[in-house]
Amino acid sequence: MYRNLLAVALLCLLTDGTYSDTNYRLNTPIVPARYVVHITPYFDMADDRQFTFDGIVSIQFTTTSNTNEIKLHSEGLNFTAADIYVGTYPANVSVAVTSLEFNANYSFAHINLASNLEAGVEYGLQIRYKGPIREDLNGFYRNYYIENGVKKWLGATQMEPTHARKAFPCFDEPELKASFQIRIDRPAHYKPSLSNTEIEKSEVLSNGYVREYFYPTPKMSTYLVAFLVSEFEAGAQVFNGTREFGVYSRPEAKNQSQFAFEFGTQVVDALGTYFGIDYYSTDSHLRLDHVALPNFRAGAMENWGLIKYREALLLYDPEQSTPYFKYRVGQIIAHETTHMWFGNLVTCHWWSNTWLNEGFANYFQDYITAIVNPTLGAENQLVIGSVYSAYSADSSSSSAPITNNNVNSPAEISGHFGTITYQKAGSVIRMIHHLIQDDAFKHGLNSYLKNNSFGSGYPEKLYQGLSEGVSAFNSLSTYSNTNIADIMSSWITQAGHPLLTVNINYETETVTLTQKRYYSNSSISSNEVYKIPITYTTQSSPNFENTKPVFIMEDRTHEFKIQNISQTHPWIIFNVQETGLYRVNYDDHSWEHIIAALKSNSNVIHPLNRAKIVNDLFALYTADEVDFSTLLSGLEFLHKETEYSVWYAALNGFRTLRNIYLGDESMTQPLKDLILSYLDSAISSIGYDSPSDDVEFLRNRMQILEFACHLGHSGCVEKASSLFKALRINGTEVAPSLRPVVYCTGLRHDSNHTDYDFLWDRMVTTNLANEKWVIADALGCTISERMAKSYLFSMLEPDSPIQAQDLTKPLTSVLSVPEHLNVVIDSLKTNYTVWSSIHTSMDSILSTVASYLHSEDDFNLFESWLASCAECNADSLTGTKAALVRAKATKDWANSHKAEILQALKGSTGSASLAVPSILTILVGLAGLIISKY
Ligand SMILES: [Zn+2]
Repeated sequence: MYRNLLAVALLCLLTDGTYSDTNYRLNTPIVPARYVVHITPYFDMADDRQFTFDGIVSIQFTTTSNTNEIKLHSEGLNFTAADIYVGTYPANVSVAVTSLEFNANYSFAHINLASNLEAGVEYGLQIRYKGPIREDLNGFYRNYYIENGVKKWLGATQMEPTHARKAFPCFDEPELKASFQIRIDRPAHYKPSLSNTEIEKSEVLSNGYVREYFYPTPKMSTYLVAFLVSEFEAGAQVFNGTREFGVYSRPEAKNQSQFAFEFGTQVVDALGTYFGIDYYSTDSHLRLDHVALPNFRAGAMENWGLIKYREALLLYDPEQSTPYFKYRVGQIIAHETTHMWFGNLVTCHWWSNTWLNEGFANYFQDYITAIVNPTLGAENQLVIGSVYSAYSADSSSSSAPITNNNVNSPAEISGHFGTITYQKAGSVIRMIHHLIQDDAFKHGLNSYLKNNSFGSGYPEKLYQGLSEGVSAFNSLSTYSNTNIADIMSSWITQAGHPLLTVNINYETETVTLTQKRYYSNSSISSNEVYKIPITYTTQSSPNFENTKPVFIMEDRTHEFKIQNISQTHPWIIFNVQETGLYRVNYDDHSWEHIIAALKSNSNVIHPLNRAKIVNDLFALYTADEVDFSTLLSGLEFLHKETEYSVWYAALNGFRTLRNIYLGDESMTQPLKDLILSYLDSAISSIGYDSPSDDVEFLRNRMQILEFACHLGHSGCVEKASSLFKALRINGTEVAPSLRPVVYCTGLRHDSNHTDYDFLWDRMVTTNLANEKWVIADALGCTISERMAKSYLFSMLEPDSPIQAQDLTKPLTSVLSVPEHLNVVIDSLKTNYTVWSSIHTSMDSILSTVASYLHSEDDFNLFESWLASCAECNADSLTGTKAALVRAKATKDWANSHKAEILQALKGSTGSASLAVPSILTILVGLAGLIISKY
């Protein structure tokens, strides 16, 4: 699954610190082998069947011990004991059902039997049931789109992680794999339904429906079952009985399928070659279809053979889509396709180890994309996209380890689909890849996949596979007494990541390394020791291409010699291309050499290491490991910098620092002057609108202009405003790569409500989902408070383009303009009931608002309202309270560092930094989410 970033960020707040109840586990002796699931949906009927479906599920199973109870999952489905049949299979000797009980808390159905089921005997269970075609984008749910003024309904599915039980009663745990035969009765005027496999046969029924029988799936987990009942058509497909592949969408969008088709067919072949198992060899009736849905909760979902996406993340229009979406579509297709092996063929045994699915998908989403299409800029995203997010999510004392045993309830399971499971695990996998090198890595993954096909993955089984690769290629032989399981588990079972501090004694040619867990809050410490693969390179013979570690640091400290450094004092840079998941600090003297090199000729240092220096310096300052003047002099080379990844790190740091001081003019003004001086240099070299096909160049220009215009850079504002006017008045289309900044700046400067209406209409009428996305992100930029307020409730308009998948988009867009904070709080005060009718969790909404509070006035305004809010039951707002604590800690940090920053900005000698608590996790996290739009 590809997460919807913001929704998950909010969810993490909610599941923090809850007690983990193992009673959520089925814990049953029953082992399902085969399901037949027959679904008949009713869409816009005139009777009470409207938006419901009839279901029949038949399950063939055995039991490992005698039992008179069948306990399985069922949620929101209607059936009684009379709808259940149990009998031996195939002899069909019935076993009487005495009663049926539902336990809604755990979503169990208990079927009690008159006699025991016996171990070793095969049985069949059949349940006839009815259910709703849901609205909440889970289980079997409804979607619509408008075509020529007509509302077209479709039924889609989202089962991961715990929603299959909402579509059919089942044993809904990943390890209980079975084969599934799907049968669907669909209205005759709909197109043939889609499911995981090819259609075996179809029958025209007398009731105006067509029944389609799908081939049995390979043995797989319940959460991978998928079907689609719609009028969708394939925009591009291979349909010839072998290597079947299609890209499906609503008919009016099918001309946007070409990029997904070309890239998708290349990726499935490239991954098959890399993993040593061809996709189509795993089952003769598997197809590989990609479907673009108008309304989808996650970003995308890897159902085996039938991958579903948000439309904006699959369909691409080369004339209109921004470069960001070109990268993003490629990345997400690669992510989901990787799951065909990691997740589908071999599945995490339980959600505590979801990383065995998502860590690999997260790694290969960029690794394989960089190989298949190097022009998308995926290689750098391995670092700035994944490693940086991992650091942010993993720098507080509440960060969970990658293997998290406190995962049992559906809320805990969803909460574990987070940055630790995705980006951090992906970054650990990348580190291991560089450690054991490509041949051993490939061999190891192939062993793991082959040995566990159609079964369950465990960390130990992965380590076993990798160690086979290590043995075959002798790839750890240069390191003494070590093995892959020990190395990996030090990163997988321990939370956090290390800060490596480098002390170089040039006179004695001795390097002393020390490690400790990095916390953004300098008052916290703990005792973890990580097995760190150490890479470094020196000015004497710079080599940023060799990423094979020199040694593995197993202890808290390590001392070693580097020859011939006493005469020339070369710079020495650790963690080459950030292949290791650790931050690096140096002693003052060593920093001086590195910073001098950056100033004189930064190009000798790899862009990813320049980016790392910038990114680490901001984090080191946050944690009081360096003073502000070191950070400032480490940034000076930015005046000559044009690389996307370096600017990404810099903008992230600048934005976070500036956000902390929002509302304090005495700080925001000098910070703005500093940042604009760098941005001005960058704009002079990259320009405003020269055409280019280079995705990274265009994304870089966008991130720089976006921040420059946000800070009011006069050239940027003038340029963007004039392009907006030309669009508005003359219909002159804006180059796709500039649309986000032009739309936002146009609304933010000198606009009135008709400008807002103009963009709103454009969002309503565009046929391109990622254009809708870009506009939805920009609408909150409006200078008009009235329009900002109305945007917050725009999802309530009839057939609003803001559908369920995007409910929080107006809020985050409006909050991206600091002046609108009052608008939001005011709206909460006066219209709380409307807010709570839109959003299922007001706690997550209020947490988001709390994370935007900066000044004393902001806190007073928000907290006094909260205290007086009769409707909002302030006692239950645990996430909001936690967010307030974090926001206040950030404010404390801001107060205690203000003098030092001001002094350094004025060019005075920096004062010693004060050791005070600093908790910036939430801000760093949010900044990361915001900046990754482009
Ligand atoms: Zn995934």
